[in-house]
Amino acid sequence: MQPTGCPYPHHQKGETMQFDCGETEEKRPRVIVWFSRGAASAIAGALTLQKYSPEQCMFVCCDTGAEHPDSDRFEADIVKRFNMPITHLISKKFKTVWEVWEKRKWLAGIEGAPCTSEMKIKPRLDFQEPGDIHIFGYTADKADQIRANRLRMNYPDLKIETPLIDAGLFKEHVLQIIANMGIKLPLTYVLGFPNNNCIPCSKATSPNYWALVRKHFPDEFYRMAKLCRKFGARLTRINDIRIFIDEIPADWPTTTPIMPSCDFLCGLAEMGLNDHHPEGGNDADT
Ligand code: SF4
Repeated sequence: MQPTGCPYPHHQKGETMQFDCGETEEKRPRVIVWFSRGAASAIAGALTLQKYSPEQCMFVCCDTGAEHPDSDRFEADIVKRFNMPITHLISKKFKTVWEVWEKRKWLAGIEGAPCTSEMKIKPRLDFQEPGDIHIFGYTADKADQIRANRLRMNYPDLKIETPLIDAGLFKEHVLQIIANMGIKLPLTYVLGFPNNNCIPCSKATSPNYWALVRKHFPDEFYRMAKLCRKFGARLTRINDIRIFIDEIPADWPTTTPIMPSCDFLCGLAEMGLNDHHPEGGNDADT
């Protein structure tokens, strides 16, 4: 959709508005860029601003209360660069993912995690309006394309756009574009994490991931290790045997940590929405 040029962008969809200038215009839908404070959603936002008028767009972020503090710096850089404020959605019940895990007494399952449902999906459902266009930062990488397809299948009523896939941009491209803009990537990327998820992410099962968390964020690692023992949650596996994260050998490699995506698919099972499509897989279990 192209901007209409009308100076009054904020009115109701379907209504015909009469303006002082004599123009009439049908209300344009809100375009919601789901900004996760990572590189991909930032570039998806940039592409969206090339397609829609800025007045029509909102950059929206679901607060999890567990991201690295450098995410604040990255967000401020994005706000400055794109001249777009960020709307933050917060859970009505929980302040952080830690609080979700402690009160709900579980960390993650085969189809997702309670933190996603409480901190991302429920706030999104409260916020969204019929007619909104939802922009997601899925890249052209195969796993992302599968998740984007699955999202469309599970939420058929949502108008979903994936500008990075449309533009053929892979993860490596978006990281390079951010660097070319002169914006420093969030520190978690620099430390070797593949995305800017919570620290730690309860859905991760890769021992390399947990070894990397232990190396750089020992407080969060041991806090999670304690919770795992309390709940009997063996989050990781080595040689196909499930183990507690504090059983990972001290010299375990920290290279190529696998981190799951964190998106609105992760709470589907809990919310009874999952269609168990065979394509969906579960990268929490990789
Ligand atoms: S990134 Fe991980 S810990 Fe954070 S909300 Fe998503 S699943 Fe939960």
